[in-house]
Amino acid sequence: MIDLHTHTTHSDGTFSPEQLIRLAVENSLSAVAITDHDTVDAISPALEMAGDKKLRLIPGVELSVDVDLPKNGYLHILGLFIDYENKNLTDRLDYLRSKRIDRVYTILEKLNELDFELSTDDLHLDDTQVSIGRPHIARIMVNHGYVTSIREAFDLYLSDGKPAFVDKERLVVREVIELIHSAGGLALIAHPFSLSFNEFKDYGEYIKDLIKNGMDGIEIYSSFYPPGFVEYLEKMAKELKICVSGGSDFHGANKPEIQIGRGIGNLDIPDRILVDLETFKNSEKVTKRQSR
Ligand code: AMP
Ligand code: ZN
Ligand code: FE
Ligand code: FE
Repeated sequence: MIDLHTHTTHSDGTFSPEQLIRLAVENSLSAVAITDHDTVDAISPALEMAGDKKLRLIPGVELSVDVDLPKNGYLHILGLFIDYENKNLTDRLDYLRSKRIDRVYTILEKLNELDFELSTDDLHLDDTQVSIGRPHIARIMVNHGYVTSIREAFDLYLSDGKPAFVDKERLVVREVIELIHSAGGLALIAHPFSLSFNEFKDYGEYIKDLIKNGMDGIEIYSSFYPPGFVEYLEKMAKELKICVSGGSDFHGANKPEIQIGRGIGNLDIPDRILVDLETFKNSEKVTKRQSR
């Protein structure tokens, strides 16, 4: 069993890289990918921790993309097998994290205008390693007793349309794909259900278009999918001959319903998914584009 989508304390997860590796081993996973938002800083300590264990760590990253989608749809792209020391990549991630810090100041200002008393001191903003976001703010709101849960903080204040919402800086699709490719990685559409179309066929059209624009594949196995969606994606992936991956989107206590490897209980992503991804990664199509 593998899990190719997880978050650590370097973004909005609550397990440190070391704790995440330990948890993956305890759960008998054979491979795990760390895919923090806008940072690769968890990879090096996690690789060290995984060193002597029967667990493979796949270096990854997750990026939000600037796109127009229906309802509250959003597009996240996963980079898997990235060279996490690639300077192109780390420079862009540094930029996105600095924008996240600016955004946090604006969100706190908005909250304090609503008569909360929240200080940036609680957020350890000098620790620029961390890709800081709304879940961190939600947590300090819970700690201050302003709300009873992270979810409530989002529902009342932080979600789009709520009084303290501030959007974040995003890159466009083409740049995200190129960035991941230039770092030797595969670019995959994360949890495609978040695109939020009304009908399966609309997902199909949209995904096909992204594949035409260089996307390598899609995350077929994920935590929250409606009945029939996985089967629809599997069929499409087979027809288009694209990569497929799978992961729980584990965030520890920030998404308590999701367990590593198991998702909301029923995930069991087979090892062959990783074997196939590596075969694709080593194919001529991919090795050629790296040497460009
Ligand atoms: P940010 O990157 O700061 O925009 O925060 C996005 C993260 O917030 C997502 O990755 C989710 O983990 C979390 N999130 C978004 N909406 C909610 C919600 N309604 N309840 C709890 N967590 C949420
Ligand atoms: Zn997250
Ligand atoms: Fe995501
Ligand atoms: Fe994620």
